[in-house]
Amino acid sequence: MEPALLPRAKFDALVQTLAQAGYRVFGPVPRAGAVVFDEIASADELPRGYKSEQVPGRYRLTHDGGERLFDFVHGHESLKRFTFAAEERLWSVSHDGQVAFHAHLPEGRPTAVIGARACDIAGMRVQDRTFIAGRHASFTDPYFESRRRSIFIVAVNCSVCTSTCFCASQGAGPRVTEAFDIALTELDDAFLLETGSEAGEALAAQLPLEPAREEHHQQAAQQIARVAQSQTRRIDNEGIYELLFDNLDHPRWDDVAARCLSCANCVMVCPTCFCHRENEVPDMGGTSSDHVRQWDACFTMEHGSTHGARLRPQVKQRYRQWLTHKLGSWWKQFDVSGCVGCGRCITWCPTGIDLTEEAAALRAEPGLKA
Ligand code: SF4
Ligand code: SF4
Repeated sequence: MEPALLPRAKFDALVQTLAQAGYRVFGPVPRAGAVVFDEIASADELPRGYKSEQVPGRYRLTHDGGERLFDFVHGHESLKRFTFAAEERLWSVSHDGQVAFHAHLPEGRPTAVIGARACDIAGMRVQDRTFIAGRHASFTDPYFESRRRSIFIVAVNCSVCTSTCFCASQGAGPRVTEAFDIALTELDDAFLLETGSEAGEALAAQLPLEPAREEHHQQAAQQIARVAQSQTRRIDNEGIYELLFDNLDHPRWDDVAARCLSCANCVMVCPTCFCHRENEVPDMGGTSSDHVRQWDACFTMEHGSTHGARLRPQVKQRYRQWLTHKLGSWWKQFDVSGCVGCGRCITWCPTGIDLTEEAAALRAEPGLKA
């Protein structure tokens, strides 16, 4: 289908058409001072007129009374929670005369997410390499795959970015290029709508679309180009594996450890981080037990523990593990960076630690020893 216009005044038709097609519809909504994804019943719930100010260690929502629905950049949530649940029961076991095991694969209505950004989709594609068998993984995680296969993505090309965004440097944005069903670019009074799948085509055919003119294509392209040009942070990925692993004793790790609280916020907001723990949760009667998976982080003491030994007892070691994996050894493991440049770990770090600054500091003075 040729790109077409969806007037902003008719945006609710998209929400209603998705709902009528059987999807649970999620979209960005302002909640408690941040934009989060929540189930929506109408386009009226979207963050019309909201913007976000983001700098290292600080996030603030503001409202300018404008008409745009997606000028707020992203909040702390990405698509990750829709495909890799923060907590879920994998299986359970019961003992009622005899022992029985029960599988608990995700069930229910498929999910449509409105408002995914290019960096969110890039993050999901990075996680595909971890959770779906192929060149980089030998095992398919059925929980991830089940959600991944049934998600319908309405992506939005960014029209603004914040000071912490650097998706352009990571080749992950700001334009959405893959793994979407519908992609939107918000213009003054309408959205330029493109389809990226058969499901997207079928849904778009039911929308009140109007023909797009050359000026709409130009405005969309210029808007996206402006976002890329306005990004000031970047990571130099040239030889970054060697840079990181040749500098494991660099004094910069002590410097960053003095600022790091080991709180794991950076991991929780990262769209690519996949570390998790699995716990047994028995019932009080002793007749059944749930096997539960939860997100975990290389910043927790338990994550690096084995047979009573703590592999990374110092904060310095845990931060170094995170950064060297994310920016360095991910390339060896998955042929891609573990960072898509969304900037969330910078915004949501309580002490404003900035991985672009940490990587640049090593590059500025390589070879130093603590
Ligand atoms: S490391 Fe930080 S900037 Fe990179 S993808 Fe994760 S949260 Fe985003
Ligand atoms: S880098 Fe920041 S967000 Fe990450 S663990 Fe340290 S203090 Fe927390």
